[in-house]
Amino acid sequence: MTKKYDVVIVGAGPAGLMAARTAGENGLSVALVDRKTDIPKVRRADGGAIGVNEYLFEHMVTFNEKAKLLCFPSDGFTVPYSGPYSNIYGFQVYSPGKKRILFGDWEAAKKRGDEVRVGVSISKDQLLRGLLDECKKYEVEIYPGINISDIKKSGRKVQVSGDGKTFEGTFVIAADGVNSRIARLLGFNKERKFMGTYRYLSWMMEGEIPVDPGCFNFVLTEKSTYAVLDTYEKGIYHIDAFDSNTKVDLNASLEEFMKDRTYGSWFAGCRKVGEVNCVSNIMSPLKDPFKDNILLIGDAAWTMEFSNMAALLCGWKAGNAIALAFVDKKLNRRGISSYLHWWKKEFYNPYGSYEFGPAGGGGGILQSLLSGEEIDYLVSLIQEPFPATMNFFTLFNTIGRAYAELFPRIQEERPEVMDKLFAMREKLEEIGEDIRKAGFPNR
Ligand SMILES: Cc1cc2nc3c(=O)[nH]c(=O)nc-3n(C[C@H](O)[C@H](O)[C@H](O)COP(=O)(O)OP(=O)(O)OC[C@H]3O[C@@H](n4cnc5c(N)ncnc54)[C@H](O)[C@@H]3O)c2cc1C
Repeated sequence: MTKKYDVVIVGAGPAGLMAARTAGENGLSVALVDRKTDIPKVRRADGGAIGVNEYLFEHMVTFNEKAKLLCFPSDGFTVPYSGPYSNIYGFQVYSPGKKRILFGDWEAAKKRGDEVRVGVSISKDQLLRGLLDECKKYEVEIYPGINISDIKKSGRKVQVSGDGKTFEGTFVIAADGVNSRIARLLGFNKERKFMGTYRYLSWMMEGEIPVDPGCFNFVLTEKSTYAVLDTYEKGIYHIDAFDSNTKVDLNASLEEFMKDRTYGSWFAGCRKVGEVNCVSNIMSPLKDPFKDNILLIGDAAWTMEFSNMAALLCGWKAGNAIALAFVDKKLNRRGISSYLHWWKKEFYNPYGSYEFGPAGGGGGILQSLLSGEEIDYLVSLIQEPFPATMNFFTLFNTIGRAYAELFPRIQEERPEVMDKLFAMREKLEEIGEDIRKAGFPNR
């Protein structure tokens, strides 16, 4: 027999768990369904970094380690987190010849610690576990191991089905991630701009890597781009390769990085202790993420890497909006209009058209346009550290502004590099087109 709920939530990542907890806290009857059998076990690549003490999407997170809470003071709610953590003090960008652009002051970090952190590296498994426990406390019915494959309107209700089970809700929240099947089944993806299929491979390495503690490093070798991330576990690092060229062998690329003539020595005493990967289709975000009493939240409605913080925010807002719809007896679009206004005002309008572009997609795109020596030269022009940040928008905008100011100097010192930078915009458009053609849009 089909079980009936006020709200059925598909996907138990940070967005879905938070929506389930909030709807449960408000006294609604909630079913939470995920295809994973062990919900808190994270199988998809994720750096586990949460930016704190600075605004991201105009919202703020702080971390109260004594009370074991991630706090959202700009919004007025908290999320339990009792797992291990370490501080993050910013980003560094390394050139093929080991020149660096710094976003953060590591000398201050050594002396002032928590005071100057801009993020915490956490265990995402533990974050999800804490939320799952809260869902249980609020009597959310949890269904792991069910892959939802169908969704349809049935009178004034919505039915979702998979693996021989059907759930009926007055509302459905689709929090099924960046490659959302529900978005595709409802026809949302037909209207979305497709920007390519990106793949990530993350190796966990045990040992000592000589990077500044508490740092997210982007490393550009002569051939490709990698991320080296310090984690919450001392002596464990994530080494990531990412590429929009679907034919590139990411394992081979990481093996090559481990033997790179400049960076290979970093990994000499390390051993691989695990790996995760993921494939993401990048589409433009949804302007109106609601149809037939189905609300899409988190990565399902965004473009890529919305972030755990934004996913939690969406879950919180969605759970509350649906609770209001019941109190106001408006079991329709009007009932959840607080969510739709919020989404448009806080996310879609200010950030919805922002594209990091193909150069941000990793691989060797920048290296195909500039030589290693030219990248070294450009990186060496930035002498002073930029203020610490964990915000990608700030990172990209700061780098863009800094080089715009340096153009006259580059023109004088290295006119041939300047010519390449001028030609880059057009070339990146061509590369972007190739990436789109090579991808697999899930329309
Ligand atoms: C390489 C990489 C690194 C990242 N690093 C960070 C980081 O350091 N910090 C940060 O804040 N963010 C990071 N992110 C982004 C972050 O992982 C996501 O933004 C966040 O997990 C989105 O949460 P979500 O709940 O919307 O979706 P997800 O976390 O993707 O959860 C979706 C859930 O839906 C389930 N599901 C999917 N389809 C179905 C189905 N058909 N039926 C049932 N269940 C289904 C999945 O099993 C999953 O549990 C990273 C992303 C990538 C790709």
